[in-house]
Amino acid sequence: MSDTWDLRWISADGTEINVENPGEYTIVSAERSLPGQFEQTQNTTESGSWVEPPQVNQDGDRSVVTIVATHGRFEVEIEGLNIEVQSDNSVPPPPLMPLMMPLTAMSPSLIEDEPESTPNSATASNAAKPATTCTQCGHLGQPDDRFCAQCGTAL
Ligand SMILES: [Zn+2]
Repeated sequence: MSDTWDLRWISADGTEINVENPGEYTIVSAERSLPGQFEQTQNTTESGSWVEPPQVNQDGDRSVVTIVATHGRFEVEIEGLNIEVQSDNSVPPPPLMPLMMPLTAMSPSLIEDEPESTPNSATASNAAKPATTCTQCGHLGQPDDRFCAQCGTAL
């Protein structure tokens, strides 16, 4: 809540100045009561919410309020009943922290199991021996096959 940051003061020339921040707006009003008359001016600026208490610099009849709000920096100059607002949006609003969602690491458990090489333990020592091709049907048999598994021809 920025209610406690609302400002009210009376400038050197007797102008009562109010600066408040109801919601998204900065409202500056200046009022002056003279004998027999009452004058008031008001300026509403869509400043966003104040992010820090406004600073007031008074220089004689002239007051300058510096406001830092979510829509940028604003300077309000009040002199008598004249209110001028200048915005300096080159000052970026406070950054909104982006939601940083860490990427879920791929589970290493998904690596496929290498099929175990399955050398026939009986022929492992003969691994260098070329496979036997049947002379009759061309069936490719094991090196130690004595008969063709396809057609039964003795190899
Ligand atoms: Zn054969």
